[in-house]
Amino acid sequence: MLDRNNELGAFDRDHFFHPSTHMGTHARGESPTRIIKTAKNATIVDRDGKESLDAFAGLYCVNAGYGRTEIADAIAKQAHELAYYHAYVGHGTEVSIRLAKMIVDRAPDHMSRVYFGLSGSDANETNIKLVWYYNNVLGRPEKKKIISRWRGYHGSGVMTGSLTGLHLFHNAFDLPRAPILHTEAPYYYRRPNRDQSEEEFATWCADKLEEMILAEGPETVAAFIGEPVLGTGGIVPPPATYWEKVQAVLDKYDVLLIADEVVTGFGRLGSMFGSEHYGMKPDLITIAKGLTSAYAPLSGTIVGKDMWNVLVSGSDQLGSIGHGWTYSAHPICAAAGVANLELIDNLDLIENVKTVGARFRNGLQDALGDHANVGEVRGEGLIAAVEFVKDRDDRVFFEADEKVGARITAALAERGVIGRAMPQGDILGFAPPFCLTAEEADTVVAKAKEAVASVLG
Ligand code: PMP
Repeated sequence: MLDRNNELGAFDRDHFFHPSTHMGTHARGESPTRIIKTAKNATIVDRDGKESLDAFAGLYCVNAGYGRTEIADAIAKQAHELAYYHAYVGHGTEVSIRLAKMIVDRAPDHMSRVYFGLSGSDANETNIKLVWYYNNVLGRPEKKKIISRWRGYHGSGVMTGSLTGLHLFHNAFDLPRAPILHTEAPYYYRRPNRDQSEEEFATWCADKLEEMILAEGPETVAAFIGEPVLGTGGIVPPPATYWEKVQAVLDKYDVLLIADEVVTGFGRLGSMFGSEHYGMKPDLITIAKGLTSAYAPLSGTIVGKDMWNVLVSGSDQLGSIGHGWTYSAHPICAAAGVANLELIDNLDLIENVKTVGARFRNGLQDALGDHANVGEVRGEGLIAAVEFVKDRDDRVFFEADEKVGARITAALAERGVIGRAMPQGDILGFAPPFCLTAEEADTVVAKAKEAVASVLG
C-alpha cells in the first residue's frame, strides 16, 4: 500500500483524481492506494509482491484472463502497422471491418451493423441518440422517453447516468434528466409480496411497465433499456418468464428494446449473449468490456436489421449522421477485439464459464446458503452474488453505517481474493475471468466462507 512517505504515494494523493473514490479520505491518505503491477490468468500481483485471485476480473471485464500474449501481440502488430485512422465518411481499417463482421456473426440472427465507441457509457449515449433519430425519421418527434429500471446500470454520463437507476449516481449531479423514467427492478428476493412465485412477480413487473407506458402515453415512449442480468445494481438474474413478458409489453406499444450487454456480452452467462440466453429480441445491443477483455477500450452498439432499415431511410432524408467519435473503431482496440474473440473460441472459454461457473455457484450456495445472515446466493454462468441481511426471516437490511458488505469484501481481500462490494446494499459480487480453474473456484468459496465468518461469526 502506498502512503504519503512514498514518492509515488505523494504524487498519487496530490495529483490523481480517482474515479468512484472518496476524494477526501483518499487525498488525506486515510484510505489505501493499491498499485497492481503484473497479472497472469486470474491472479494479480501488486507492487509489494502480494498475489490475489481476482474474482471480479477487474471490473468484470478481463474475461479472457490476464497476460494473454496473443492479444498483446495483436495490439503491438497493429500499432506498428497502422496505429490510427478514422472511420468517418466511409473510411475504415482492415481490422475494424473484420471485427464488425465477427461481432455480427456472434450476435443474435436479426442483428445487422456495429457502431463502435470506447466505453459502455458512450455506447449507451449512441443508443439514446439512435432511438431519437429513429423516431424523428418515422415522423414521431414526441416519441422520445426512455424507460430504464431502478438498480439498472448504464453508465456515468449525463444521459447514461440518468438511465442508471442507482441513487449514488444521481444524487449531487442533478440527475436523472428528463425524458428518462425508471420502472421496477426484477429483483425477486426483494419482491413486494413474499407469496408471489417467480412467474407472478415477473407478471407484476411487466404490469408495472405497462402501467407506466399507459400513464405516460405510448406515443411518447420510445425505448426500454435493461441488462439481461442486473449487474452493478446487485447481480440479480431475472425471475423466470420476465423477459418474455416485458418483450410482449414492448411489442404491444411499439417500444424499442435496448439490451445492455456490457457485462453479459461474449459469454459471461455461459451463452454468447444474454439476449439469446433469455430469448430477448433487442433492437439495439450495447457491448463493451468483454469485447476486448479490457486489453484496450472498445465498445459498440449492435443495431438490428429493422432499425437499421429505418436509419438508412433517414440518411436519405437527413444526410450524413451527425454523430461520431474520433476514436470510433480505433484499429489498435479493434486488433485487441479480434484476438480476444478468437481466443475465447479457440480455448472454448464459454464452455468453462458453464462448468466452472456451476461449480462455483453451487459451492457458494453450499458454503454460505445456510448462514443466518445470508439472505440469498444467486447468479448465472460465471457471475454471482451473496446478499447479507441482519434478519434472514424478515429480510431486514443492516444499518448502512455498519458497512457489512465492505467489511466482508475487505476481509476477503486480506485472504487473497478480490470480490466487489456492490454499491447499493450489503452484496458481495463475483465475476471471475472465464479461465478460472475448478481449484481456484474452490479457493474463492473457501476464502469467502472464512471472510464472512470473520465479520458475522
Ligand atoms: N452498462 C453496463 C451494464 C455496465 O456494467 C457498465 C459499466 N460497469 C456500463 C454500461 C458503462 O460502461 P463504462 O464504464 O465502460 O462506461
